[in-house]
Amino acid sequence: MGDAVTHINLNAYKVDGEILETCLQAMHDGRPLLLVGPPGCGKVVLARMLAKLRGGPLRAPHYTVSQHGMFSHTIAPGKESVGEMDLARGGVLLLDDFPQFRRGVVERLGEEYRVESFKEAPGYLPIFTATSCPCGWLGHHSRTCMCRGSDTLKNYTKRVNEYMGQFPTAFRVVLGSMDPSEGRILSSPFAA
Ligand SMILES: [Zn+2]
Repeated sequence: MGDAVTHINLNAYKVDGEILETCLQAMHDGRPLLLVGPPGCGKVVLARMLAKLRGGPLRAPHYTVSQHGMFSHTIAPGKESVGEMDLARGGVLLLDDFPQFRRGVVERLGEEYRVESFKEAPGYLPIFTATSCPCGWLGHHSRTCMCRGSDTLKNYTKRVNEYMGQFPTAFRVVLGSMDPSEGRILSSPFAA
């Protein structure tokens, strides 16, 4: 990426150059990407953009997806059911609302990913999204987070960290935050 690129405009969203660079780096290396930000900050828009850049499919299974839905398996002799992970090859596998996914599915995905990336770059880019807290508004410029200091928030953060522990090489990107220490990475025109 040259220095000239400071941002790109994505529909109604403005993507900061630094963030864009991290996303492109993840795409280039085939490293997972965790996008954290409040509802509406553009996490899914960004995932869609990356799928488009890769020229491949965007698979976004619902968080209720089972292991059978996520992973390819034999249903009868000579008959294979293709799972979301394999359907995402060449493109992006988006786990929107990552902490809501079943633990067994996430653990197995992590295992498959690690085994595969040990040999070569996996043929798909895993992208996970999460809000920074259960209510979604932690760090938001105008909305009030209702979970600060609560056990719900602690458990939520623990779960995100446990899930991300399955993907040790992942990039973590914070979007739409107004906290200067985190930087403002992607913002919508509706933000202050
Ligand atoms: Zn909250």
